[in-house]
Amino acid sequence: MSQMEVTVAQSVEEAISLLAQKGDGARVIAGGTDLLVRMKKGEVVADRLINIGQVSELDYVSYRGDKGLRIGALTSIQTITKDQVIRVHLPALSEAAALLGTPTIRRQATIGGNLCNAAPSADMAPPLLLSEAEARMRSLSGERLISLQDFFLGPGQTDVRQGELLTEILVPELPSGSRTVYLKHTRTRGADLAIVGVATMVQMDGRIVKDARIALGAVAPVPMRAAEAEKSLVGRELDDRLLDETAEIASSEARPIDDVRGSASYRRQLVRVLVKRALKMTTEKN
Ligand SMILES: Cc1cc2nc3c(=O)[nH]c(=O)nc-3n(C[C@H](O)[C@H](O)[C@H](O)COP(=O)(O)OP(=O)(O)OC[C@H]3O[C@@H](n4cnc5c(N)ncnc54)[C@H](O)[C@@H]3O)c2cc1C
Repeated sequence: MSQMEVTVAQSVEEAISLLAQKGDGARVIAGGTDLLVRMKKGEVVADRLINIGQVSELDYVSYRGDKGLRIGALTSIQTITKDQVIRVHLPALSEAAALLGTPTIRRQATIGGNLCNAAPSADMAPPLLLSEAEARMRSLSGERLISLQDFFLGPGQTDVRQGELLTEILVPELPSGSRTVYLKHTRTRGADLAIVGVATMVQMDGRIVKDARIALGAVAPVPMRAAEAEKSLVGRELDDRLLDETAEIASSEARPIDDVRGSASYRRQLVRVLVKRALKMTTEKN
């Protein structure tokens, strides 16, 4: 059996030069809760790991009114459940973090790893899609921003290029007075991946919906926004009929598959139920 080479990076500079040096067979490891499982199953082959777990400059949450939230890629899921700034500015992200895995996993797992692993069910993705977040990538050739809408290319596939490190997630401020919710349906009450995840944001003007965003997880090859369902809400008075109509449109926009966690038709039905419930909860919070 060939030896695994693990190099521990102490800074972003060191991590990106190691990525450039070590070439194709090298992978970044953060918390390792996805990568080590996938390597053990033989789904990912890597003979060189670059461990960024000690790069403390990537572990932060900060907020500036005009710039919104900035979350370092190495921020743990546990920190996201507790951080007061996130709770105030993107509560759906705190709610999603609290529903991810077990306490042990949440301490180890990072937001960057959750996004780069690109599972269609990744719990961090729907709330971040609501806020039209961007991913900052760094490599030896410089920096670029990728809109989260374009970040995911398919199950396990992202737009991250060879030699690039995800350093932070930029989360613009949501429309003023808006509220957000994240709901997740799983097979068991304990830790499990989502059969369906739904995040919603609503901004009301009296009884009229001024702005609305709906993001879905685990119902398509990538986490997605339900754009047509969002359009159906804006400018209209919010009542039960409109909620049913919107939930139906969201369900028709989903592109679910059958898998061990649920059939495609069950997932469509869950989208109907959860979108309606999430929108109700979002507007009742208003
Ligand atoms: C028991 C268990 C339960 C789980 N439950 C859930 C759940 O409920 N919901 C959920 O969404 N997930 C769940 N997961 C999956 C996993 O814990 C999360 O996706 C986690 O956030 C991954 O983060 P990590 O730091 O461990 O990533 P790692 O395993 O270290 O990395 C994952 C991938 O991202 C890449 N990567 C990591 N960081 C960077 C970076 N900064 N730049 C570039 N590439 C990077 C790695 O190369 C690798 O390909 C579970 C896992 C386990 C084992």
